[in-house]
Amino acid sequence: STALMAGKRGLIMGVANDKSIAWGIAKACADAGAEIAFSYQGEALKKRVTPLAASIGSDAVYECDVSDAASIDALFAALEERWGKIDFLVHAIGFSDKSELRGRYVDTSPENFRTTMDISVYSFTSVCQRAEKLMTDGGSCLTMTYYGAEKVMPHYNVMGIAKAALEASVRYLAEDLGKQGIRVNAISAGTIKTLAASGIGDFRYIMKWNEYNAPLRRTVTQEEVGNSALYLLSDMGRAVTGEVHHVDAGYHVVGMKAVDAPDI
Ligand code: NAD
Repeated sequence: STALMAGKRGLIMGVANDKSIAWGIAKACADAGAEIAFSYQGEALKKRVTPLAASIGSDAVYECDVSDAASIDALFAALEERWGKIDFLVHAIGFSDKSELRGRYVDTSPENFRTTMDISVYSFTSVCQRAEKLMTDGGSCLTMTYYGAEKVMPHYNVMGIAKAALEASVRYLAEDLGKQGIRVNAISAGTIKTLAASGIGDFRYIMKWNEYNAPLRRTVTQEEVGNSALYLLSDMGRAVTGEVHHVDAGYHVVGMKAVDAPDI
């Protein structure tokens, strides 16, 4: 797969540290020959993202807070100046007040509902809007979702509602941008221990449950999500759009606890 991404340039949003799903995707794309620009949220993350980017030969590192339209505009202006066009975009961003990622969904506050929807859903539409103008030879946009969009998962709460809306946006965006050869997909990843995930109540228990009950009897790695992303971002996936692709060791097909699953 060495040349799969040769000559392709793209933006990866959402690297917070080396455990981030975005970083797994970045490594897979870099190994396949892509040139990558990164955006990070807030000055505090700059010192983490800069050396990671450097380790794959990139000095294209930009600040972008997706809750601020001017910040997104500045990012895309910088990309346009640097490259003129891009071929792919990865959105691996989500946020909700972690005090509401436990307890009951019904108790969600209006403020956190709006913030969660803005950062975790609208931001993808917002970056696709800007990316469209730079994807002059077509392109591939990818976001990250979770099974909590489809079924009730413990503590996922308002994030589940947001991911359901995100998955619906993938379908509408795929239709809108398809005529220009721009594809839009999501990966529904199994549980991975990242910064964002550790904000979810009982996350360790949920990880174990997945490990004991998924058809493959394990969880998934950042590298595995990275390789599946590579398929969707490269020409290997060129007939695939509007898709929510599960990379979850098969957990989404399971109807009940496995007979051989230990008690936890
Ligand atoms: P992570 O904490 O490494 O990444 C989340 C990123 O979102 C961080 O880089 C953070 O800076 C960024 N972010 C939050 N608010 C932002 C804002 N206002 N502007 C710009 N960036 C902002 O965790 P992760 O698990 O790699 O999360 C990436 C994506 O994968 C999220 O959408 C998450 O919901 C999704 N996902 C994670 C799992 C899992 O188990 N870890 C499973 C399925 C889907």
